[in-house]
Amino acid sequence: MTFRQLQEIIKQNYSDADIKLIEQAYNFAEKAHQGQKRTTGDDYIVHSLYTAKTLAELKLPVPIVIAGLLHDVPEDTKRSLDEIRQEFGTDIAKMVEGITKLSRVKYRGIDRYLENLRKMFVAMAEDIRVILIKFADRLHNLQSLYVLPADKQKRIALETLEIYAPIANRLGIGELQSRLEDAAFKYAYPDEYINIEQIIKSNFPLKKKILNSMIRKIKTRLDKENIKSTDIYGRTKHYYSFYRKYLKYNRDAKQIYDLVALRVIVQDVADCYAVLGIVHSLWKPIRGRIKDYIAQPKPNGYQSLHTAVFGDDQEIVEIQIRTRKMHEQAELGIASHWQYKEAGKIDKKEIAWVNELADWLKGLKDNTQLLEGAKIDVFQNRIFVFTPQGDVIDLPDGATPIDFAYHIHTEIGNKCARAMVNNEIVALDRKLKNGDVVQIITDKNRKGPNTEWIDSVKTRTARHQIETYKNKGWKKFLPKFK
Ligand code: MN
Repeated sequence: MTFRQLQEIIKQNYSDADIKLIEQAYNFAEKAHQGQKRTTGDDYIVHSLYTAKTLAELKLPVPIVIAGLLHDVPEDTKRSLDEIRQEFGTDIAKMVEGITKLSRVKYRGIDRYLENLRKMFVAMAEDIRVILIKFADRLHNLQSLYVLPADKQKRIALETLEIYAPIANRLGIGELQSRLEDAAFKYAYPDEYINIEQIIKSNFPLKKKILNSMIRKIKTRLDKENIKSTDIYGRTKHYYSFYRKYLKYNRDAKQIYDLVALRVIVQDVADCYAVLGIVHSLWKPIRGRIKDYIAQPKPNGYQSLHTAVFGDDQEIVEIQIRTRKMHEQAELGIASHWQYKEAGKIDKKEIAWVNELADWLKGLKDNTQLLEGAKIDVFQNRIFVFTPQGDVIDLPDGATPIDFAYHIHTEIGNKCARAMVNNEIVALDRKLKNGDVVQIITDKNRKGPNTEWIDSVKTRTARHQIETYKNKGWKKFLPKFK
């Protein structure tokens, strides 16, 4: 990897990038790291270049790419953060500082997990861009993992799968999530990786042939109907994502229809539905497999139309239809905003959960019991429900009205008597769905929560409050000391 190669990507992906400033950053980093080698034997600067390359491939703003080039300078060289600030300004220096803080992890084992999680969220709450640089940095470290001893490989790979990738998923950055997962997969579960690789490679050639003929048919019809597609192509499922599905279907690969999928990218929403109609007139759709994520987006913002059809040669093929903007949202999630909005500005509401978790993690000592709580909340898919006033409440998938009540206020949880969902009385352990309007009816004479609720709640707040009440309840049976 050379600076030339990075320059090429920048020229392709940016219309008016400040190439001079990027070159200045490269020269600065190259000089600072001079003489340093990676464990692989490469010059250190190669790592900085790869990190910047990933960020430039995602078309992130130039200051982030520059911070990527400089990210290891203060930690590993004689040049200081102050010098970076003088030369490149406070904004870039701040990002580099964020990365530096993130790289100092002291503990081992479960404490290390917690420390990592805490640092990631604190860094994200301060500046969400830092986490993107960290992902790019980690991606290259995974690519050079082959030189490390097996135990270290496994630790870094598992940490990636358990912390980095889920955060990328939650931020909707599918592109980085799958790159991180696939790079970590072979070190985390080597035997499984080989198995999955074989399944995918043996199925691929036939699927590809069918896909190509189907793409031709769709193109012809689109031309006839005068619908402009910006892109039609086949995409192969990423290894780790295939593996997850494979486990879900009890290791029966035949049940996984989207090993390869056909993707159609069009100009607007109306065209998406028009293409869906065309596809269904060409091939018979499979009942129950049409998903309209345009009308009902996934919690992380994902939008597309999905359908599965009996394609050519009766092979089942999944087809995904979306606009260019939806496509960028799917690949880049929160990072895609930078291409549409002002640089660096993200809707605060969208990352409110980051701040909330950062605060909670900051206050946390080393309670491993609560660690489960963290895993529960961060890494579950989320649903969005509404208060009767129309406020959006973000909850983990499977959350109940009790979770909702505790999310609003502890007292509302403790005094919760009944719940109405979409104007109907429902059981308090009913699982809420995206878009539900939830109303809690409290009973002010109620002493506290029903401790059995703990079996159905999904949020740490609810669990914690019910547990606290339960423990207090027990305490009254203990002898009092005077
Ligand atoms: Mn690094």
